[in-house]
Amino acid sequence: MDPDIVQAFQKELSCGICMNTFIEPVTLECGHSFCRPCLFLCWEETPARCPGCKGPGQQTNLKTNVVLRSLVAIARRARLRQFLSSEEYMCGTHRETKQMFCEVDRALLCRSCSMSQEHRAHKHYPIERAADVQRKMISKQMHAVWENTQENQHNLQEKRRHSNQWIYYVNLYRDKTKNAAAFCPGGEKTSFPATDQ
Ligand SMILES: [Zn+2]
Ligand SMILES: [Zn+2]
Ligand SMILES: [Zn+2]
Ligand SMILES: [Zn+2]
Repeated sequence: MDPDIVQAFQKELSCGICMNTFIEPVTLECGHSFCRPCLFLCWEETPARCPGCKGPGQQTNLKTNVVLRSLVAIARRARLRQFLSSEEYMCGTHRETKQMFCEVDRALLCRSCSMSQEHRAHKHYPIERAADVQRKMISKQMHAVWENTQENQHNLQEKRRHSNQWIYYVNLYRDKTKNAAAFCPGGEKTSFPATDQ
């Protein structure tokens, strides 16, 4: 493919917040798309508006744009293949493209290396799958962090609401006692009328 077209394609598949290829792309009502984690982090600071056009964005029920996600996966695979097939990243011993990921050594291996004495007993995955697994894990972790922050914020708001309620009652009570004191003979001094025995 023409490098210019590849670049244009790549640009369309990039998030306007992190400037990287989308992770879990979601599309807002205005049509702009962003990574789900990026959008949530962005909305921590500002109200739920589109970071692109400042149009309103709904904060719940955002569905992943599956077409965009598939395109991103294709683009990623192509880029990974291009990167791995470069002379620089070939296996120095066997002059082969590295295609496997060794889970034990966390290293990239060529087919011959993966069958060698050293790695034979280790668990191996095709690189693309290993990259997908890692990406999903990171995305999950980011989401968990976001949910945690949301919960903390919610708790904080609840606490604030409670303490505001308390302040309101304390003020109300203080005003009431003040008024009651004003009606008592002798003004502010607390004196009670003698009760009949
Ligand atoms: Zn992003
Ligand atoms: Zn927008
Ligand atoms: Zn090798
Ligand atoms: Zn190994």
